[in-house]
Parts: sequence; C-alpha cells; structure tokens
Amino acid sequence: MVIDSLEFAQRHEILSGRLQLGTLPRLAEVLFDDSDSLDYEVSGETAGGKAFLALKLEGPLRLICQRCLGALEFALSVRSRVMLIEPGSPWPDDGQVGGLEDEACDAIAASRELDLAPLLEEEILLTLPIAPRHERCEPPVAVAASKEASPFAQLARLKHN
Ligand SMILES: [Zn+2]
Repeated sequence: MVIDSLEFAQRHEILSGRLQLGTLPRLAEVLFDDSDSLDYEVSGETAGGKAFLALKLEGPLRLICQRCLGALEFALSVRSRVMLIEPGSPWPDDGQVGGLEDEACDAIAASRELDLAPLLEEEILLTLPIAPRHERCEPPVAVAASKEASPFAQLARLKHN
C-alpha cells in the first residue's frame, strides 16, 4: 500500500481493497478482535493547484467496552481528506488548511513512497470513541450463573431467616 502520493493525486488514481486490522498495531490494541477487516478507498484529487487524498473507510468493528470489557459493535464510516504538502512548500496554518469548500482537512508531507496503512490507521483512531461503552452492558454470564452463591445472596437469605 505504498504510493507516489503527488503523482497519485495528479492522476486522480483510485486504490481500494480490504484492510486487515491485525496489521495495524495501534488499532489492534483497542479492538476486541483484530481479525476483522475493513473496506477502504483512497482517491487522488486536485483542486486550486493543491493535491489531496480522499479517504473512505467502511465496516463494522468490535471495540472493547470500557465498563464490562465485552465486545462493542461499532459501525465505522470515515470520509476524510488530507492535503499533500510538497517538499519545500510552506506548511499551511491550521486555519488555512481547507482547500475544498472550506472543509477542514489535515495536511501531510507528500512523499514518493507514502505508506497508506499508517495514514488509514490514524484516520480510524481519530474516529473511534475515546471511552467506548455499551448503552446498557449485558451482565457477564459467569456472574449471573453464580448469583446464588454471592455474598449478597447469602446475606439476603440471612435477613429473611
Ligand atoms: Zn459493556
């Protein structure tokens, strides 16, 4: 997944496929199961003499619920755009990085050997909730099964006697 980024943008090329999440170390850490994969599409764009990469990522992920540590379904849908900055060109101020219809976008250094995997990984990480949680956690099965034996259950019995 290595492209010559400026050429890719200027030729309006498109690259798409499936991204194996287990190959992305930072992302794999926050996933319940990193054997999942996502559809991605990267397309080169130019506008106003500037070059961009439009990124699309789509697919279901399973995150780890921060409360019960169970699997939490998350429908990932990323649409973003990064501006390519040529070597030697001034880096735009944050406020000026718009380019297309005032839409804010990040800038990255253009490279003849741009590896898309870390770029896509970063975009996914930015989209994920910081502390994912179920709206209502399912009680873990093990706890439910041993409810009778819990100290609280025994206490409740004592009170009834
Ligand atoms: Zn939960």
